[in-house]
This record gives sequence, structure tokens and C-alpha cells, in this order.
Amino acid sequence: MKLYSKENACRPFEAMSKTGRFVHSYIITGEKGTGKKTFARYIAMQLLCDNHNACGECRQCSRILRGQHPDFIEVDREGRVNYSVDVIREKVVADSCISPNDCDRKVYLLSDCEGWSDACQNAMLKVTEDPPEAAYFIFTAVNRNSFLSTLISRSMTIELHEADISSCREALSDMGKYSEEEIDRAVSLFGGNIGRCRDFLEGSGELTAAAEAVTKAMDAIVARDEYALAHILGSVSSKREEMRYALEMLARSVRDGAVIRNGGKGGAGCTAAASNRLAERFSTARILAMYDAVCEASYRCTRNCNAQGAAAVLAGKLCR
Ligand SMILES: [Zn+2]
Repeated sequence: MKLYSKENACRPFEAMSKTGRFVHSYIITGEKGTGKKTFARYIAMQLLCDNHNACGECRQCSRILRGQHPDFIEVDREGRVNYSVDVIREKVVADSCISPNDCDRKVYLLSDCEGWSDACQNAMLKVTEDPPEAAYFIFTAVNRNSFLSTLISRSMTIELHEADISSCREALSDMGKYSEEEIDRAVSLFGGNIGRCRDFLEGSGELTAAAEAVTKAMDAIVARDEYALAHILGSVSSKREEMRYALEMLARSVRDGAVIRNGGKGGAGCTAAASNRLAERFSTARILAMYDAVCEASYRCTRNCNAQGAAAVLAGKLCR
């Protein structure tokens, strides 16, 4: 399996595979789209691979990649938003004391642990502190605040970041489905976040809506049309995810304007023309102030503030 821009994250696993002694509990954090589940599969491959190197080709690795390995257990939420304590106790804690099906080890993946209860984590404490010899646990979430310090202290934490742009391009191109122009457009909107670029190219409604809003918002900023801008930002502010995506993209497009203004090359794609006009029209200081305003609004939206209010304030600041 090829991982893109993950060399630093892989290094400890390569070292552990040489000694054959692995940590039993892992916490993987990173933005949506940075490859947490892919990395969890890589860890499972390191633990179960017949060749002890996550080869991606042996019987164990192939079954992990197909999602059909009996000893790589992706714990099911059973239809709930969050894991329930009962599921954790039965499907993870009790089950981990039973011998593996086919390998010397078994690996549990609990993904998207945002918002899981302290009770669930407390149920995991004993088994992560003194784990059955064969059992390994992987938890994923956007950030480490989702975990109790007691669970963090028993785990190895791995923080994933978006790939560098050239690795992201390579990853998208290796998927063999997208043209250069499509890849340009995705990267200009979502930078090195491979998962988001892919979801966008696969036609994700939220991402497409956000991209359209950003294209229009850039035009309104250049025209200093506060009314239109407030309307555009207001229209995405009712959906938190969409608003977050839109503000991230807007920050990137505005920043490109500052880069172009200073003789650099901005990103390609649907907002490139608007970034160029921004550079022609406004001073560097003004563009950087706009960039700060977008980042501040973006930060506010991640802190659960009123997104509609933040959109209105932002429109005012950008068209001042
Ligand atoms: Zn293998």
C-alpha cells in the first residue's frame, strides 16, 4: 500500500516491526480527509502481515485491504451516532480476551471517536493498560480533545497532516480517474487534503456547494458588494460542514491573491481568476487583513459560535 507524505508517521512502525514488539494502543488524529482510516489499515498490516513489513501483497495484507480480515475488527456502532458502553464492553473488551481467528494478533479499530462518552473510554482503560497479549487497539478522531488524558497516556499518538501538494497530486493521479485539469481544480480548492480532493472530484454535494459559494464570494469581494457577499456566506452558514469548507477555501483563494500581488504564482482552478483580480485591485496589507478576517471566522465556526452571525460580520469586514 502506498502512503503519501506519511514518512514521519510510518517511521516508528518500521522500527517496531524490526523488533517485533508493538505498542498495544494507538490514537490517530487529523482533519477529515488526511487518511486516518488508511493509516489504521497500515498499522493493522504492520501487525498482521506475513512478511512483517505491511507488504500489501500477502494473504493477510490483501484481506485487510479488502476489509475482510477476521482479525482486523472495525467495531460497528450498531446504528448509533456514538459508541455505546455495551458495545465497547462486549465487542471490544470481552472479545479481546478471546484468541485471534487466523493470526497471532487481533486489531480493533474504533473510528471517529468524536463525542464518545467518558464511560466508553473508562471501559477501555483497564484493557489498554494491561492488554491481552494478542490484542491491539486503534482509535481515530479529528483531535486529541476527544480522548481522556488517561487513555492518551496509555496510547501512542499519531497526528496526521495534509500531504504536500505534489504528493497529493500524485495520489489523485494514481487513482487513475481524473484529468490534470480536474486535479488542478481540486488542489486549488483543498490543498494537500487528499480525501477532500477525492470527495470533491467524486461529486460530494457539500464540497461542490461550498466551492460554488466561494467562486461567487470572491467575485463579490472584488466588486466590494457587501450585500451580495452576506447573502452568499449566509446561504452556506446553515450547514456547519459546508461553512467550514467554504471558509477554508476562501482563505486559500484570498491568500493566493496576496501571493500573486507579491510576484508569486497563485493556485490554479476556479478561483484563480478572482485571486488575480484581488491582487490587481487591493494592497497587500488590505488582502492580508481580509485573510485574517476569514481565518478568524473559520476559527469561530469551529468553536461552535453562531455561523450566521459570523457570516454577516465577515461580509462587513471583507467589503470595508
Ligand atoms: Zn503483508
